[in-house]
Amino acid sequence: MIDKPIIAANWKMNLKKGDSTKLIDNLNNSCGEGANVIVLPPFTLLDSIKSKLGNNIALGAQNCYYKNYGAYTGEISPVQLIDIGCKYVIIGHSERRHIFGEDNKLLSKKLTAARKAGLIPIYCIGETLEERETGKKEMVLSMQINILREELMPFIVAYEPIWAIGTGKIADIKTIEQTHSFIRDKLSGQMADVPIIYGGSVKPENAYEIASCDRIDGALVGGASLNANQFIKIINIFKEVKTC
Ligand code: PEP
Repeated sequence: MIDKPIIAANWKMNLKKGDSTKLIDNLNNSCGEGANVIVLPPFTLLDSIKSKLGNNIALGAQNCYYKNYGAYTGEISPVQLIDIGCKYVIIGHSERRHIFGEDNKLLSKKLTAARKAGLIPIYCIGETLEERETGKKEMVLSMQINILREELMPFIVAYEPIWAIGTGKIADIKTIEQTHSFIRDKLSGQMADVPIIYGGSVKPENAYEIASCDRIDGALVGGASLNANQFIKIINIFKEVKTC
């Protein structure tokens, strides 16, 4: 069980220095206590965001490699992320899995390396529309969950049905609840209380319904996290619902 909802902002490959400064200033002024707010900027902004971040917001990165140093041109390592002040890292976002071909074997190495360096992974899982429609959803999720082990704790699982990311569609609440239960049941032993958050077109308009599900510990927000007003509304809705 978590004491506060986790609300993470995945900025993806968006924003330059100027826009990100305005966004972070707005968040600093409005993010009080009561939620674990995490911002996940692109690598180029990590340093400048870190220097402006208020006490109530944590920093994370969107990806990392599984080696700490060496001839891996274009990659960023877990120890480099720690060095710059990151606490979290997304591992296995569907855009990494599907655009960049990252598979469960590679992601398992990334999870291990991230934890070894002291980062808390936000491990993303989710099925495509085709997998869902052909009855493969549970098999796909099981394979993605199977690489998790107790030694990797602490980590966060983000369930993101891929067809709901950036599309404006969200899974119906019953399905989300059932899927979160399915994931929870797969996380046995000490992992039984790992936080499971939901992602996929979360917006102020649907945040109340999502936050009201017992089984949902927070949200991973993409598009709506680029707009300070929308993101703050989502945080406040989760705070209100989860502290009742
Ligand atoms: C995401 O990228 O993790 C995400 C959930 O994006 P969006 O909120 O835009 O669907």
